[in-house]
Amino acid sequence: MSRDELSVDVAIVGAGTAGLSALREVRRRTESFVLVNDPPYGTTCARVGCMPSKALIAAANAMHTRARLGEFGIRGGQALEADIPAALRRVRALRDHFVAGVLEATDDLGERNIAGRARLEGPDRLVVGGRVIRARQVILAPGSSPIVPEEWRAFGDRVLTTDTLFEQEDLPRRIGVVGLGAIGVEVAQALARLGLDVQGFEGAPHVAGIADEGIAAAMRDWLCEEFPVHLDAQVDLREADGDLEIRWRGRSVVVDKVVVAVGRRPNIAGLGLETLGVPLDERGMPEVDATTMRIGETQVLLAGDANGRRPLLHEAADDGHIAGINATSDEPVRLARRTLLGIVFCDPEVATVGQRPEELEPHEFLRGEVDFASQGRARTMQENRGRLHVYAAPTDGRLLGAEIAAPAAEHMAHLLALAVSQRLTVHDLLRMPTYHPTLEEGLRTALRAIARHLPPCSISDLAECGSLGAEALE
Ligand SMILES: Cc1cc2nc3c(=O)[nH]c(=O)nc-3n(C[C@H](O)[C@H](O)[C@H](O)COP(=O)(O)OP(=O)(O)OC[C@H]3O[C@@H](n4cnc5c(N)ncnc54)[C@H](O)[C@@H]3O)c2cc1C
Repeated sequence: MSRDELSVDVAIVGAGTAGLSALREVRRRTESFVLVNDPPYGTTCARVGCMPSKALIAAANAMHTRARLGEFGIRGGQALEADIPAALRRVRALRDHFVAGVLEATDDLGERNIAGRARLEGPDRLVVGGRVIRARQVILAPGSSPIVPEEWRAFGDRVLTTDTLFEQEDLPRRIGVVGLGAIGVEVAQALARLGLDVQGFEGAPHVAGIADEGIAAAMRDWLCEEFPVHLDAQVDLREADGDLEIRWRGRSVVVDKVVVAVGRRPNIAGLGLETLGVPLDERGMPEVDATTMRIGETQVLLAGDANGRRPLLHEAADDGHIAGINATSDEPVRLARRTLLGIVFCDPEVATVGQRPEELEPHEFLRGEVDFASQGRARTMQENRGRLHVYAAPTDGRLLGAEIAAPAAEHMAHLLALAVSQRLTVHDLLRMPTYHPTLEEGLRTALRAIARHLPPCSISDLAECGSLGAEALE
């Protein structure tokens, strides 16, 4: 072996959430490993993703209460203004705190922590700079990156992504947000709530990845109360005397900066996946077994955002966990995956749980709905904007999934994810206590709507206790 060649049981590529989760499992079973990461360290989640975005949203929502204070009989709220540089400094201070916590996970690795960009040269050989690493098993967890159309790169720092947004010392007044999926909606609404003139653009007919047309249309209307939302908008960017002109469908608007949130691409280009001798699809992606994270029959595993499956933090952590176990086991260890749970932290919050109706045949599900416009607790809080659809099997009422755009959807979504995972039925949930007055009473209304189509329970079963039909009591 040459001086620059290293041999290990397991090589992990990427010190993000998936890589660190894999590392935790690998370390429990072998000391013979390396972690290779192309800096910066600290994970997408803590550095430029989940955590700074939620810190910005919290500031924006605090500011937004100003718009509603008058309705509560509190005067003077309109005089409040956001200090954008101070808000961004707070985001970075929190970000630094979260990143510092993450860095502790790799503090003690010493020479087993290699900074550099890794490339495969076959299933058991990685090259990092001038160094060759031979590994019996390779876990690839290189994450994803924001997509920026090539021709927009010429606009330099007037085109931002979530990789650069939180680094800004200040923000100009006029901002275009292109792409209103989960990330774009969160950013656009937050910037609008901080007082900036935001224009939002989405190429699809729906925002926030919402599938149900009624919920999507309602969400668009609620967002439009805060900033202009342009759907079905294929956007073109042009120079306009030092500013940027956004053009779409024969219309145009001039902005100072654009935040591009048109999606994220798995970091698999240049990774050497073609050297594995397995079929790759048109994106260059191999097939990955989601229960083992293994690529075909190779000794290479692909975890986290990089496999393009479910680009969510808890899924990346699960992927890494599964990959770490399988990279250190002689036999495949197959782990069942969790019920789908996705949340968008806009207002009202958007959440998806389990199966969606478009994945099912019409005869395979019953749908219960509630509109939070006249839901008691939501009205007391002046937050009565929301829709919730819940889906259940028509044969036995087993809960299948839900789509929600409603206040505190994150909590109802967790409750429903528990119910779907545990194969609970509509009657099982209706048997549970529901406190008054809560938003969960709205969920109960939707469950009761399904229960009306199911065979009745016994007269001595409280799941049968029905609605009183009064807003204050629902
Ligand atoms: C703005 C934003 C908000 C988000 N909000 C949420 C949220 O609220 N909830 C949620 O669940 N998810 C959210 N996500 C998604 C979540 O952050 C990701 O799913 C998760 O961080 C992915 O982790 P990962 O380990 O796959 O990748 P990463 O954390 O990106 O780690 C990949 C690492 O690999 C390194 N690397 C890349 N290529 C190589 C190579 N060839 N060699 C060596 N190292 C390499 C990278 O530099 C990086 O350090 C958000 C994402 C963004 C961008």
